[in-house]
Amino acid sequence: MLTNETFRNQAHQVVDWIADYLENIQQYPVKPSIAPGALRAALPDEAPQSGEAMDDIWKDFLNMIVPGITHWQHPGFMALFPSNASYPGILGEIAVSGLGINAMMWDTSPSATELEQTVMEWLRKATGLPDGMLGVIHDTASMSTLTAIISARERYAQFQVNQHGFHGYDKLVMYCTDQTHYSIEKGAKAAGIGAAQVKKIATDDAHAMIATALTKQIAEDKAAGLQPFMVVATLGTTSTLAFDPLEGIGNICVEHKLWLHVDAAYAGSAFFLNEYRHFLQGIDHADSYVFNAHKWLFTNFDCSCYFVKDANHLINTFSANPDYLKRTEESVAMFKDWGIPLGRRFRALKLWFVLRNYGISGIQELLRKHIDIATNFRNQLLSDTQWELMAPPVMNMFCVRYHPQGINDNEALNALNTALLKSINADGNYYLSGTIVKGMYMIRVVMGQTHLEQVHAEGLLALMRSSANSINDFKALR
Ligand SMILES: *Cc1c(COP(=O)(O)O)cnc(C)c1O
Repeated sequence: MLTNETFRNQAHQVVDWIADYLENIQQYPVKPSIAPGALRAALPDEAPQSGEAMDDIWKDFLNMIVPGITHWQHPGFMALFPSNASYPGILGEIAVSGLGINAMMWDTSPSATELEQTVMEWLRKATGLPDGMLGVIHDTASMSTLTAIISARERYAQFQVNQHGFHGYDKLVMYCTDQTHYSIEKGAKAAGIGAAQVKKIATDDAHAMIATALTKQIAEDKAAGLQPFMVVATLGTTSTLAFDPLEGIGNICVEHKLWLHVDAAYAGSAFFLNEYRHFLQGIDHADSYVFNAHKWLFTNFDCSCYFVKDANHLINTFSANPDYLKRTEESVAMFKDWGIPLGRRFRALKLWFVLRNYGISGIQELLRKHIDIATNFRNQLLSDTQWELMAPPVMNMFCVRYHPQGINDNEALNALNTALLKSINADGNYYLSGTIVKGMYMIRVVMGQTHLEQVHAEGLLALMRSSANSINDFKALR
């Protein structure tokens, strides 16, 4: 077993390995190519009876575990959305693992609670959120949104569902669009609303919610005796980075007394930049808002920043004060009452390290750099008219498909682009993902990895062009 002294040596080795890993990360394929079940088959069926040397365990980590890792910190990781680490973020995680605390409430680590309050206030100001909104850190946007749905349910039901179940509140309905992240529907299931009671409002050509369609659906539902209680608006959808019109939706929510939850999980980081704040117009009407610092704010997973207009709804919904968890000071925040779990990680420390080490202007510079690289890349790619833009491009993401002259059948284009994406990813230096919107398959390009440089965009441009050409040759042969 490790002693304090052998731990110290081992830990230095681990840190050296992390630095080497990040320095040489481009030597790895972004996505591993291992067969399903291979690791399970290689590992013993039972835990070892007697302790093993850390050196042996570490060797197996390198030889068995690392080959099956997807390298999210590889600058060629342009799939899904990034889950960015950074040097200050990693240091924060290391320090927290050493402290090994549980930040459930003020008494269990006063610094953890007060630092969390401080960094959330910093973020609120730095991203242009309204005065008075208060923040708490959850693990994921999924959990933040579930928290919002349950709070909205309880505000509507005057906390009666919490007490007595759904009697009298069995016709609750909520609204989002067919582009909303699936975590909203999942949250509705978990909150007892029911997936079928989540109404998908139609979207326009830019894949954003049509506010008049929302008004119409609410009127129909009220006439049918249903109980509308909530709208989820998305700023930056996962498929195409579409922005729902917050101002219009907010006015409808005010009129009908609906809880407005805003999901800005990815794009929320961009509100460090003034030039994107116009998307926030109408945010005054939001009852809750979430964005993930672990996506595009260089803070290691997990760090989901959840803001509420009135914390009393949260606390009245989630607080429970058994005798063994009484607070010792009346005035302090008890974050265990701001969400579902009792136990909480000390996530504020890594965020504090990141915000201080980059500074607001350092973050702004890095975001703008990513956006510039993506914009140049997009312009170059689209200068060949066989590449077709599939949604309005914004920030550092866009959706395209390869559309050679003469092929106009949508099914054929879907098959072609599915094959093309596969061939781009097979190269190993890049990892892109696809999506299907309104029946059309498209390739998403997200250029937001912490260590992204211009040269990585150039490599991708060459790869996408050559992959498209080989697909053309392949077609010609047939
Ligand atoms: C990523 C994402 C989510 C889910 O985030 P988790 O933190 O993984 O739960 C929700 N909504 C949007 C718009 C997202 O992009």
